[in-house]
Amino acid sequence: MNASASETSSRRRAATLDVAVVGGGMVGTAAALALARAGLDVALLEACPPAVWSAGDDLDLRVVGLAPSSLTLLDELGVWTSIRAARAGRYRHMHVWDAGSGASIDFDAASEGRDALGYIVENNLVQWTLWQALEAAGVRRLCPAEVTGFAARGDRIQLPLAAGETLSAVLLVAADGAASPLRQRAGIGTHGRDYAQRAVVAHVGTERPHGQTAWQRFLVTGPLALLPLADGRSSLVWSLPEAEAQRVLALDDQAFRDELGAASDFRLGRITRTTPRAAFPLKMQLAERYQAGRFVLLGDAAHAVHPLAGQGVNLGLRDVAELRDTLLAARLAGRDIGAAHVLRCYARRRRSADTLDALGFDALARIYAWQLPPLVAARDLGVRLLDRLSPLKRQLSEHAAGL
Ligand SMILES: Cc1cc2nc3c(=O)[nH]c(=O)nc-3n(C[C@H](O)[C@H](O)[C@H](O)COP(=O)(O)OP(=O)(O)OC[C@H]3O[C@@H](n4cnc5c(N)ncnc54)[C@H](O)[C@@H]3O)c2cc1C
Repeated sequence: MNASASETSSRRRAATLDVAVVGGGMVGTAAALALARAGLDVALLEACPPAVWSAGDDLDLRVVGLAPSSLTLLDELGVWTSIRAARAGRYRHMHVWDAGSGASIDFDAASEGRDALGYIVENNLVQWTLWQALEAAGVRRLCPAEVTGFAARGDRIQLPLAAGETLSAVLLVAADGAASPLRQRAGIGTHGRDYAQRAVVAHVGTERPHGQTAWQRFLVTGPLALLPLADGRSSLVWSLPEAEAQRVLALDDQAFRDELGAASDFRLGRITRTTPRAAFPLKMQLAERYQAGRFVLLGDAAHAVHPLAGQGVNLGLRDVAELRDTLLAARLAGRDIGAAHVLRCYARRRRSADTLDALGFDALARIYAWQLPPLVAARDLGVRLLDRLSPLKRQLSEHAAGL
């Protein structure tokens, strides 16, 4: 089932706005809600109506691990309690181990004085809950609405829509995903790297309980993660070279379960059942700039990262919090929220933080691909040392949590 075919018709036509947010994925929807709650007049434009989330449906295949910083933002936006009550898998532990050397590292929420390291939640549950909260916050939802371009006109941006209407906003926020048509239209390039890998995803049942633990095994072909779901199953994210991913996708269920059991070192015993599988291409991509005039990027439109650290949407939600705080401060100081010097503060802070993280995840992917024995030995030593160096390990964990 889909949301109302055209929310546009039931909504007041927005001639002039403070902010137009393009892209109603998790990040764009959170941005529209956060900015409206900050007192701005906001419209959200999304090309495809979001799928309705229902407790009666099986868990959606696309899930994310939400870090504490994301839970804080969602809580401030008033949606976290209902997302958690609906369906969220808490994880208290993380066990990461190296198939090459066996060296492992463990993280534990209790030993860091926290009740969880994070929660595994369906993407469409987050998106749908945020989407529903928009109306009460006064956000104008324009959906389906495709933005065909934009142009600066004095102290505003004009946005012609495919339907013929033109919007005018002080600030244009693009959260239109990794392919971001608006980023391209703004002439902002990207750099990064195509991993020539795909992440094979499925929800699987296992012989032994997941124990509220996120399990991750680094194989030379790429990382394999089993993330604890609320219903006792685990969500698989298995990064593999293209050809291997295609082969694994084509296996029958029994052969797939057998291969996955072996690849996960039978840490949770045999794989007892599986949903159908899907696969997503993996790349690291960073926008050269996050701002141009009255235009800013956030979420995957600004940065796409390897899922090995489960941080993509967490970085996007940190962009949202930073943008909201920047605009609030500007407004309180009586400044133009779309002024380049205001937006540059947001862009500088988030781009440097995202760049460090993206390069860090990329370095991890490269280090775990090492196969030469001296390099494997060095990696082994490094991981064992890190596991014993509590202050450093804690710092790493707090960084991942966005604390
Ligand atoms: C296998 C896998 C596992 C992952 N696991 C994790 C994890 O554990 N933790 C984590 O934090 N992240 C994870 N990620 C990353 C996370 O899924 C993404 O970072 C996140 O979904 C990006 O959200 P977004 O809102 O920025 O973009 P998107 O979800 O891509 O949304 C963009 C929206 O813009 C709309 N749009 C595009 N163009 C237009 C237009 N012209 N007009 C109007 N609308 C438009 C699209 O319809 C879409 O709804 C994972 C990714 C993968 C592939």
